[in-house]
Amino acid sequence: MEKIALFPGSFDPITKGHESIVKRAIPLFDEIVVAIGENSEKKGFFTIEQRLQWIKQVFANYPTIKVQTYKGLTVDYCKKIKAKYILRGLRTAADFEFERSIGQMNKQIYNEIETIFLLTTPEFSALNSSIVRDIIRHGGNVKQFIPDAIDILNIKQ
Ligand code: ADP
Repeated sequence: MEKIALFPGSFDPITKGHESIVKRAIPLFDEIVVAIGENSEKKGFFTIEQRLQWIKQVFANYPTIKVQTYKGLTVDYCKKIKAKYILRGLRTAADFEFERSIGQMNKQIYNEIETIFLLTTPEFSALNSSIVRDIIRHGGNVKQFIPDAIDILNIKQ
């Protein structure tokens, strides 16, 4: 059976940290679905369309990586796309505590799911989308934090 993993997130915007986790996971799975979870209560900084377009650009040359959006429970989406694995990145102890409860709850709702964690490489452990958004908001340069495939000059809200 094909090993399909879902890498869910907000990707608002995608950073080099996300890119690194997905690329390192390529050898582990037959297919990785990078999916933006659409949350009706949380309006993003960048539009879903913009975020989707960037993620597609980043993984355009990787045939086993698919890019999607989804609404609703992550485990329901896993069932829909036949993913038995949820991929997540771990930066800090705070990430671990947060992820532990989500991972355990997901397992409780859908016993066939396994959450697979990859540790962030040290150079990306301080990197997160919310700081990148702050820098953009204040007119700073985020080039070093976002994937090379994204055209920095086109970054605007
Ligand atoms: P969420 O809203 O689900 O936290 P994010 O887009 O912030 O979505 O993150 C999606 C996944 O990517 C999470 O597993 C998160 O831990 C991981 N991640 C975010 N930033 C990094 C980073 N710099 N290095 C490694 N993993 C990261």
